[in-house]
Amino acid sequence: STFADLGMDPLLIRHLKNKMHVENPTGIQRSCLPYMLSSPLDPDQIEDTSKPLRDVLIQAQTGSGKTLSYLLPIIQTLLPLSKLSYIDRSIGTLAIILAPTRELAQQISKVVEQLISMSLTLDEEDDRQFTRWLVSGLLTGGSTRTHEKARLRKGLPILVSTPGRLLDHLQNTSSFQCAKTMFLVLDEADRLMDLGFEETIKGILKALEGRRKNEINIEKEMDEEGGGGAMRWNFWNRGRT
Ligand code: AMP
Repeated sequence: STFADLGMDPLLIRHLKNKMHVENPTGIQRSCLPYMLSSPLDPDQIEDTSKPLRDVLIQAQTGSGKTLSYLLPIIQTLLPLSKLSYIDRSIGTLAIILAPTRELAQQISKVVEQLISMSLTLDEEDDRQFTRWLVSGLLTGGSTRTHEKARLRKGLPILVSTPGRLLDHLQNTSSFQCAKTMFLVLDEADRLMDLGFEETIKGILKALEGRRKNEINIEKEMDEEGGGGAMRWNFWNRGRT
């Protein structure tokens, strides 16, 4: 099957082919994408909780294309954000990808940057930069905490991080908006566990849930009908077999 058969957006398919020389899905991508691609996010319906929660565990060998297996569904879901004429900073972070090492986080971040560097034509008359608001950020403690905080304050829809640094920001950066986070990826989940990150990850889940509850409570006070988003998907991406 082709990427189109699997439900990928034609714009993304064109970008993969022209800019990344990726033309045909690998085996793991053929298995994952139909299950993981959801309909694109409606920025006005960001609180929509009607979609079911799904966990996905991908186990595949290095080089099998697992990074794109989880990044493509994330990018395709968040792509409508890039069409906004302005971004509401309160949307905050929608996707978080955790990696066990700085090096791996940097590699993943590079692929994210490549994917969102699309300059796509919406229609024949419109050649705006398509992905203006689909910003990503790498938080690994490589730069100063103050600098990272400033970037979080501006809003980073897609984050790639190592566990310790993410937990640090969740606990200490009040401007880190993550009440609407809908994707959490644990890349090389087995290595994250081997390296002793289990408690840190539990702390991250607890902090994310806590922020979400706060958000829901605030909304409930303002509007009885309002509800917050539930953590929709967790992607567990296991590394090496
Ligand atoms: P990964 O298994 O995610 O580390 O990917 C290994 C390499 O395969 C990376 O360099 C990707 O850019 C490349 N890759 C991923 N998917 C495809 C594909 N469908 N066609 C060709 N190359 C791919």
